[in-house]
Amino acid sequence: MKISKALITGVSGFVGSYLAKELLSRDVEVYGLVRRRADGSKPKNLIDKGVSDKVKLLEGDLTDITSLANALDESEPDVIFHLAAQSFVPRSFTHPIETFEVNTIGTANLLEAVRLKDLDSIIVFAGSSEEYGLVISSEKQYERVKQKYGVIFPEPERIPELPIKETNPLRPMSPYAVSKVHGEYIMRNYYHVYGIKTIVSRGFNHEGAGRGIMFVTSQITCQVMQLKFGETDKIVIGNVNAFRDWSHVKDIVNGYILLAEKGKYGEVYNQGSMRTNSVLSYILLSLEQAGWKVEKIETMNGSKIVKNPTERDYSKMFGVKFEKTKADKMMLEEEIEFTLEDKGIWVYTDKGKIPIIFDPKRFRPAEVPILLSDTTKIQELGFKVNYKLEDIIRDQLNYFISPQNRRLI
Ligand code: GDP
Repeated sequence: MKISKALITGVSGFVGSYLAKELLSRDVEVYGLVRRRADGSKPKNLIDKGVSDKVKLLEGDLTDITSLANALDESEPDVIFHLAAQSFVPRSFTHPIETFEVNTIGTANLLEAVRLKDLDSIIVFAGSSEEYGLVISSEKQYERVKQKYGVIFPEPERIPELPIKETNPLRPMSPYAVSKVHGEYIMRNYYHVYGIKTIVSRGFNHEGAGRGIMFVTSQITCQVMQLKFGETDKIVIGNVNAFRDWSHVKDIVNGYILLAEKGKYGEVYNQGSMRTNSVLSYILLSLEQAGWKVEKIETMNGSKIVKNPTERDYSKMFGVKFEKTKADKMMLEEEIEFTLEDKGIWVYTDKGKIPIIFDPKRFRPAEVPILLSDTTKIQELGFKVNYKLEDIIRDQLNYFISPQNRRLI
């Protein structure tokens, strides 16, 4: 199937702007849904990609079905990429209803508009790895989380539940994650009930230049560049033990297009890198790419020390071979864990020591400890990972060379 006209909801967002650029380069006519801008200005992400004059912007709001119907009339898309969402997990803890209104009711509105208009459009939905939520990585962790939360439902059928297949249990841990579970179920239901051609992507974390400033990879790379330019003398962060499967946004955007072209309607596909790395490693590797040589880390209370923490390791973990650091391996093997009692970590480098300060406000009431994708299913359609973790970090560091971008923090 060759796409000729696409409508992107959330076109002005981080992923939407990359997707618009990629589709335009493939000669697709691109329409984008944007909320009304009182000052009539163009979205920064589209300007940064050099496509603000090429995307046909349509005003609309997911919570207003009439505006969606109008956007569909104007664009008559053969594919709708439904990316628009309230996508920041911490905001969903403080604004759960807003998150549901946009992500769940908004998704239902879009489907209903397509159904009522009797359109034949394919809809690709941006689900999320957050839907898997509480993934059990070891017997020890299972006991710990059972104590913390009291109940685990469904109970794991295998431990570790890694890498994560599409058939893994869904245990959403935030209103955001719940909203995405609802969104994908309503997508799939519209296929079963009305024959609407929906395809669900469960994207694991994807990053790159222009990633929203509140997400951890931007928080890290922005602060590292502030260090580089002498604008700060520390890195402030939350839970450094969290492991994420970080992809380059460009790989995921290609995956979305592949799903539109070759995905099976009513189906669910993971999109990820089949790597997992810690927040701590993201910091250390960012420091290294920015010019510091990391020699040792030591907690501020002096109780935990790791020498050469960024030494690379390629051993198999959970049956998957991927690049990680020595610190990652130790954390995955539960040899070491960093807690608020540690206060923070000193990073010893060839140019002196840098403090990483743990900020209690950045810790979450409920956390997703680890994500690692199994992408076998989408690979069968031809999906390939082109970017390494270092490529993502490099692009993000370069983005923050601009003082204007550093001021976003
Ligand atoms: P998410 O996986 O969709 O929630 O993406 P984020 O980039 O927001 O967070 C990834 C992980 O980084 C989570 O486990 C957070 O708890 C952890 N983290 C640690 N420090 C921070 C921080 O300062 N900001 C954010 N956003 N996340 C942090």
